[in-house]
Amino acid sequence: MSTIAWIGLGHMGAPMSGNLVAAGHTVRGFDIAQASVAAAAERGVTPVGSIAEALEGADACFTSLPMPQHVRGVYDGPDGIWAHASADTLLMDTSTVDVETSRWCHTESAARGFRFVDTPVSGGTAGAEAHTLTFMLGGQADDVERARGFVQSMAGSVIACGGDGAGIAAKLVNNMMLFVSMMGVAEGSQLAEQLGLDATVFWNVANVSSGGSWPQRTWYPVPGVVDTSPANHGFDATFSVDLAHKDCALAVQAGTATGVHLPAATLALSQLDQLIEEGLGGKDCTLVTKFASPDGTLRGWTP
Ligand code: NAD
Repeated sequence: MSTIAWIGLGHMGAPMSGNLVAAGHTVRGFDIAQASVAAAAERGVTPVGSIAEALEGADACFTSLPMPQHVRGVYDGPDGIWAHASADTLLMDTSTVDVETSRWCHTESAARGFRFVDTPVSGGTAGAEAHTLTFMLGGQADDVERARGFVQSMAGSVIACGGDGAGIAAKLVNNMMLFVSMMGVAEGSQLAEQLGLDATVFWNVANVSSGGSWPQRTWYPVPGVVDTSPANHGFDATFSVDLAHKDCALAVQAGTATGVHLPAATLALSQLDQLIEEGLGGKDCTLVTKFASPDGTLRGWTP
């Protein structure tokens, strides 16, 4: 069994690091928020007061941080990972960041004699709890195989995507497809309502027909149709507008950088922008459904 440093013990980091503990590893966890540290400690993570302390004797180090700038800040600087890791500590970032930040982690790690693998995840907090996340790995082949051993106990699927940054590239494309699919489900759910269809009857049709999709199965935005829908809980976040906006913006940015035309993703991003402008960044991203409603009202949503 290994000793593992974990930096960032939030919605994803706490259950993921807890699953490593359950698999028999010693996990030393650090977070700037005391509440996050306390929540992880309840899952058996050993709380520590600095990145340096987390890295003492660590075979591997994971980060799970909100934004690209947090990842850059935690790696760099006198209190950061590069200043305190040993050369045989495998460095892995599970955060969703832009491709440039991920490649920067690879390049700067290699320049300092470290091995880094991008290890973003899909499956949300439910997947983190149930250790069924999909891990998308990018990096040198031997490092990726080593990373596979560390992520296995948190994962339902582990896919080696290619070289440096390939994991994060796959993650951004996947999530862009999710937000575009969600717009279809949002509009379909409202058109079905206005045409007088029973929501569950229509869901049953879509579920076995060509309009079916992951957000249709999991997030159908009408109360009482699917158990996992945020519409059952006043559109409280399972995947917040703020995080969805970050992911969609990173995908649109990648489209601009590569010359790929993304009109549908750009529209999805503008709807998420509008929700943030309305002060709804902390609600669930399926609230985009209100833009399809004839009068902006939704069953299950009280503004
Ligand atoms: P979160 O905000 O709940 O957790 C992030 C944690 O990082 C917080 O506890 C915060 O205090 C800590 N942190 C911030 N700066 C820090 C620093 N300098 N040093 C130490 N700790 C620091 O976010 P989350 O939902 O757990 O997401 C983490 C990452 O995983 C994000 O990049 C997100 O996009 C990605 N992700 C999230 C989901 C999801 O459903 N929530 C799904 C897949 C991927």
